[in-house]
This record gives sequence, structure tokens and C-alpha cells, in this order.
Amino acid sequence: MDYSKRKLRAVPKVKRNKKVSRKSAVHMADVAFSAYIRTRDPVCVVCGTLEHGTCGHIFSRVHYSTRWDEDNAFRQCSGCNLRHEHDPWPFYKEAELRGVDLSTLHAKWSKSYKVSTSAILEIARYYQVKKERLDEHSGTV
Ligand SMILES: [Zn+2]
Repeated sequence: MDYSKRKLRAVPKVKRNKKVSRKSAVHMADVAFSAYIRTRDPVCVVCGTLEHGTCGHIFSRVHYSTRWDEDNAFRQCSGCNLRHEHDPWPFYKEAELRGVDLSTLHAKWSKSYKVSTSAILEIARYYQVKKERLDEHSGTV
């Protein structure tokens, strides 16, 4: 995958009062959340590179309970994100340095969680706004 093109892709705007499929809502929340995390963390938290930024999850995105949880995601370069699958320790260490309680986070992750499509759209909008505020604060807009 060409991450340089991916970085340039605009975050789709969430339109209110428009019927959005669940799949689209999840995609919008993922894109907005990833953009926010990659803005919040300007470099890979493991190796410090600016290149190939991805939104890495400590515990996988499979559960919605922590899929869009800021404590569960940090910027990683694509290489460190791949290595994380085999050696999560450097990533866990970063989370602990930031004060994330991994036991609490894991307990939250392991819970089954039902999230409505409208709530997922709210999550997308929340992270769009949060990213825009970071951009304004850093003077990139
Ligand atoms: Zn890295």
C-alpha cells in the first residue's frame, strides 16, 4: 500500500440527516479516528519516524468497545505496526509511559459492546472536530 497517497486522502465529512449504512459509518469513524491519532502523535511512538504513519491499536480493532478509544491507539509507522503483531512490548511500554492502565484497557476491550450506527457517526464527527482543533492549534490550517 502506498501510504503517502493514503495520508493525503481527505476525511469524509459526516452529513447529518442522511441515511448512512453501518459499514460506511464504521469506515468514516475509522478514517476520522486514524487522522486524529496521526495528528495527535506527530511521529511513530516506537521508532520516532515521520514516514508511513498509521493508527496502530494496542488491542485489535475487532471490538467496538476500544476500536475508537484514544488510550488504545497510537501512531506507528507501517513497519512498527507490522512488528507489533509479533512483539507488542515496545508499543505496550509507550502506552504505560502515557499512563494507560493496560489491564483496565484489556478488560474494556474484552467486553462485548453494541454500538448503534448513529453513535458511530457521532464518534466520526467527534474525531473530525477534535482533529480540526489540533490543526488550528498547530497552525496547519
Ligand atoms: Zn516506527
